[in-house]
Amino acid sequence: FLPHLVASLEQVEQTYIMVKPDGVQRGLVGEIISRFERKGFKLTGLKLFQCHKELAEEHYKDLKTKSFYPTLIDYITSGPVVCMVWEGVGVVASARKLIGSTNPLQAEPGTIRGDLAVQTGRNVVHGSDSPENGKRETALWFKEGELCEWTPAQAPWLME
Ligand code: UDP
Ligand code: MG
Repeated sequence: FLPHLVASLEQVEQTYIMVKPDGVQRGLVGEIISRFERKGFKLTGLKLFQCHKELAEEHYKDLKTKSFYPTLIDYITSGPVVCMVWEGVGVVASARKLIGSTNPLQAEPGTIRGDLAVQTGRNVVHGSDSPENGKRETALWFKEGELCEWTPAQAPWLME
C-alpha cells in the first residue's frame, strides 16, 4: 500500500460527471473522458446509460420551478448519456473549472464547454456543484457494485 497517500484520505471527494446526449451523439465521449483522465483524477465508475424521466427529474429536482426544466428533462432523456464518477482531492471544484461556465459562449477557451459547445441547452457535460451533491448524484446514478476502488499505477507520480 502507499502510506504517503493515507494522510489525505478524508480530503478525497467524489464528483458525478456525465456526458450529456449531445456529447454522445457528437462523438465527444473520448475527448471529454480524456480531459479528466489527463488531469490526474481517478475514475471509479463508468457506464453508457439511457436515462429515464424519473431519474432525470430526481437529478435536477432543484431546478423544478425553472422555465427550462421541461426541455432540460427532454434533453437529458433524449439519448444515451455516459455516467462517470471521478475521485480526488478537490475534484469537485476542479472538474467544474475543467467544464467551464453553464453558458458555453461565456465559458473560457480551454474548458470543455468553451471549446466544444455553443448553447446552454446543449452544453455537452454535467458536473456536480458541491462535494455533498457529488455523493448524492453518485448514489443516484450508480449502484454500489458498479463502482471500483483501485489504486492507479501513476498515483505516486501524481501526489508527493
Ligand atoms: N439549463 C438550461 N437553460 C438555462 C440554465 C440551465 O437549459 O437557462 C440547463 C443546462 O443544460 C445546464 C442544466 O440546465 O447545464 C443545469 O443547470 P445548472 O444551473 O445547474 O448549470 P450547470 O451546473 O450544469 O453548469
Ligand atoms: Mg448544476
